[in-house]
Amino acid sequence: MTQNKLPKIAVVGGGAGGLELATRLGGDLGRRGQAEITLIDATRTHIWKPLLHEVAAGTLDSHDDELDYLAQANAKHFRFVLGRMDGLDRTRKEIHLAPMHNAEGREIMPARTYPYDFLVIAVGSVCNDFGIPGVARHCLFLDTTEQAEQFQIRLMEAYLHAHATGGSRGEGELDIAIVGGGATGIELSAQLHQATRLLNAYGLDNVHPSDIKIHLIEASPSLLPGLPERLSRATLHQLESLGVEVLLGEKVVEVTEAGVATHSGRFIPAALKVWAAGIKAPDFLQGLDGLETNRINQIKVRPTLQTTVDDAVYAIGDCASCPWPAKSDTATVPPRAQSAHQMASLVLKNLRRALRGQSQADYHYHDYGSLVSLGKYSTVGNLMGNLMGTVMIEGLIARLVYLSLYKMHQWALFGTLRVGLLMVANFFRRRLRPRIKLH
Ligand SMILES: Cc1cc2nc3c(=O)[nH]c(=O)nc-3n(C[C@H](O)[C@H](O)[C@H](O)COP(=O)(O)OP(=O)(O)OC[C@H]3O[C@@H](n4cnc5c(N)ncnc54)[C@H](O)[C@@H]3O)c2cc1C
Repeated sequence: MTQNKLPKIAVVGGGAGGLELATRLGGDLGRRGQAEITLIDATRTHIWKPLLHEVAAGTLDSHDDELDYLAQANAKHFRFVLGRMDGLDRTRKEIHLAPMHNAEGREIMPARTYPYDFLVIAVGSVCNDFGIPGVARHCLFLDTTEQAEQFQIRLMEAYLHAHATGGSRGEGELDIAIVGGGATGIELSAQLHQATRLLNAYGLDNVHPSDIKIHLIEASPSLLPGLPERLSRATLHQLESLGVEVLLGEKVVEVTEAGVATHSGRFIPAALKVWAAGIKAPDFLQGLDGLETNRINQIKVRPTLQTTVDDAVYAIGDCASCPWPAKSDTATVPPRAQSAHQMASLVLKNLRRALRGQSQADYHYHDYGSLVSLGKYSTVGNLMGNLMGTVMIEGLIARLVYLSLYKMHQWALFGTLRVGLLMVANFFRRRLRPRIKLH
C-alpha cells in the first residue's frame, strides 16, 4: 500500500483528550504505517487546562509546563497542522481551516481545507456568559493560556500600581470577584490567596494581603453544585478560613467596569472580574454541516462516540454530548479531564476496530470522583468506585490523588522515563526560581 492510500485520521483539538488520542494513535497506527495521523490545533503549544488557574495566579509559569505540538508530533509519529477549524464538508470529507493572522494582523496562512477518512472533533469548551450584560466586555476568562497570562499581567499591574502609590485607596481597587463556585472558581480563589501572600513576601509590601478581597459568587445555594453536600461544606469552610468572601444564592445580572451586580440588589466592587460559571462548546459547532448539537453547542454522540448522523465523525471531551445512562435517562457525561481521557481511550480502540472492519465498542463513563485543590492549603474531594462506594478524602492523600491526574496525562503523552525526568527537573526548578511569577 502506498503512503497516499493510507487511511487518514484527523484529530481536531490537541487538549486533554485530543492530544492523548493523537499521541497514542501515532505510537500505534502511525508508527506501524497503518494510518496517517494528523493533529490540528489553533495554537502551537499545549498546556493541560486544569493548570490554568495556577498560570492566572502566577504560581505556575506556563512555559515550564507547555508542550510543543511539532516536537510531540515528531517524536510520536503523527503530523501537526496549525489551524483553526471553522467549517466541515462531510460529503467531500474535508475540514475547513480559517486564515491565520499574526499580531500585526498580517495573514500568515490562508484559508485551507484538510482531507480525512475519519475525523475526531476534540475542540473543548469555552466559558458560557449566558448573554449576561457586561460579562464579555468586563470579565476575564480562563479558556486559554493567553487569557490566564492576561489575568496574571493585570494582577501584577494592579499590585505594582498600588505598591507605588502607597497601597490600596479606592473601593474595590484591588479586589477580585470570581463568578462561579465550581472547581475552577474555588481553585482560583485559593491560588490567588496564596499569590497575594507571596507577592507581599517578595517585597511588594506597601500592599497588605488584607487590602485584597477575594469574592466568590455562586448562583446556587451551595458550592460545587452537583457534587456531594459534604464536599461543598468542607470546601466552604476552607475558603472562609482563608478569608475568601463566599456569596451563595447570588445570581449575577450585570457586570460593569466597577464590579458585579446580583439579582438581590448587591453590588460587589472589584477591579478584576473573572467569569468561571458554566461552559459551552465553541459556537462554530452549532449546525456544523448537519451534525446534531445541543443547546450549549455540544455535538451529540452515540455510546460509540460516533456522531449521531455520521459514522466517520467522532466527538470527544467537553465538546461532546454523550449519554450517561448509568446516572439517569437524560444525564450526559460531565465536562472533565477524566472524561476526555477515557473517551480518548475508547476512540483509539474504535478507530482500530473500524480499520479492521469490526463493530464499534460502547463508552461507559467511570466517575472516579472529584478533587478540588485549595493550593498549598488543602485538597478536598470524594472518590467513587464500584468497590469503595463514595469516600471523602482530604489533605495529603487527596493532594496526591489530585496530582496523579496530571501525572496520568503526562504519562499518556511522554511515557514513564520522560515523566520521571520531568519530575526531577521540576524539583530543581522549584528550588531555583521564585515561587511566583514576578514579571
Ligand atoms: C481552570 C480550570 C481548572 C480545571 N480543573 C479540572 C480538574 O481539576 N479536574 C478535571 O477533571 N477537569 C478540570 N477542568 C476541566 C478540564 O480542563 C476539561 O474538561 C478538559 O480540558 C477537556 O478536555 P478537551 O480535550 O475536551 O478540551 P481542552 O483540553 O480544552 O482542549 C481543546 C483544544 O482544542 C483546541 N481548539 C479549540 N477550538 C479549536 C478550533 N476551532 N480548531 C482547532 N483547535 C481548536 C484548543 O486550542 C485546545 O488545545 C478544569 C478547567 C479549567 C478551565
